[in-house]
Amino acid sequence: MKRDTRLIHSGQPRRSDDLVNPPIERASTVVAPSTAELYNPTPPRRHYGRGGLSPNTELRDAIAQLYEADHVALAQSGLASVILALRTALPDQPSGLQALITDSAYGPVRRFCDEELPRYGVTPVYYDPRIGADIARLLEQPTAVVLLEAPGSLTFEVQDIAAIARAARDAGAASVIDDTWSAGLLMNPLELGVDYAAQALTKYVGGHSDFLMGAVAARGDAAARLKDKDVLFGGHVSPDDAYLCLRGLRTLSLRIERSGASGLAIARQLEAHPKVSRVLHPGLESHPDHALFNRQFSGSSGCFAFVLDGVDARAGEAIAEALHLFRLGFSWGGYESLILPCDRQIRRTAVPWNAEGALLRLSVGLEDVDDLWADLAQALG
Ligand SMILES: *Cc1c(COP(=O)(O)O)cnc(C)c1O
Repeated sequence: MKRDTRLIHSGQPRRSDDLVNPPIERASTVVAPSTAELYNPTPPRRHYGRGGLSPNTELRDAIAQLYEADHVALAQSGLASVILALRTALPDQPSGLQALITDSAYGPVRRFCDEELPRYGVTPVYYDPRIGADIARLLEQPTAVVLLEAPGSLTFEVQDIAAIARAARDAGAASVIDDTWSAGLLMNPLELGVDYAAQALTKYVGGHSDFLMGAVAARGDAAARLKDKDVLFGGHVSPDDAYLCLRGLRTLSLRIERSGASGLAIARQLEAHPKVSRVLHPGLESHPDHALFNRQFSGSSGCFAFVLDGVDARAGEAIAEALHLFRLGFSWGGYESLILPCDRQIRRTAVPWNAEGALLRLSVGLEDVDDLWADLAQALG
């Protein structure tokens, strides 16, 4: 079957006389008829809530389908999923190693790398997101893990995922990607050779801005390690949220298609606007990484940014505040359109961020694209 068909039907109960959706099971405790059954159930069955009841297991199966992964771990937020992937990827004796972190990494992930990796004896070293195969040079130093994010948070650089993953593997380092932008749908990092794909399900998969969750997917040896460490670290998500997430997954493909198409239409209109100097959307021919993007991604989601021409950060914020349909807020990937003035958030150490004016990020939602453009046009005016 094609992927969309598999996604629609993944995690459904299999019995022909059952409900079409899985039940929401709220439980810590699963009782057993005897001590022998309690310790050694035959056949093996669920024995405690933390291992995941329904619909948590159905959600994990569905995300495993999406990535064609051997194991998926759920985490209480997207940030927690990237941290779970990084901690899992660290070798058992990480002391004295470096971690190579893309300079475009999501801000809170950067903070984790700066403050927590040194506690494992690991030094974070930031690299140019556009480094490609040249990362081999940095990998000459003993390396625990390489973190990728594509396109990068706020600035939308596209990374050569396959080349970086291959170089990491050749150097004996693990690789982790923050794959929130593609939602696992527009690109499969595991197929491109990355060991651990982490994603904020909060964004596109959830799609309705009403819960937070994350997932990590892996294959082969990495999957076995992920399964083991997930149990060790004690993660768990609420079955109610897992149910909402599974529901979001069923319409993910449709929603991304609409957001992506509207986003690209708005990006083209912005590109032609005299107050805009650059549009940072990898689906545009003008984006410096457009060819690399086309090679690795099957399409665009609706999140991108643009730089105003000679308009400072404060004036950029005033433009964002003049919008009516686009609301001001963190997060993205929901049904509703959002705008975020980004200048206060940018942190760079490997490659400085130089722009002609304020940086604004859009998450284009599911509203009518003509209404969205009218709103942007009046605010820019
Ligand atoms: C939002 C986001 C996260 C974190 O997700 P939360 O669910 O908010 O913790 C991680 N990475 C990227 C790229 C994000 O945009």
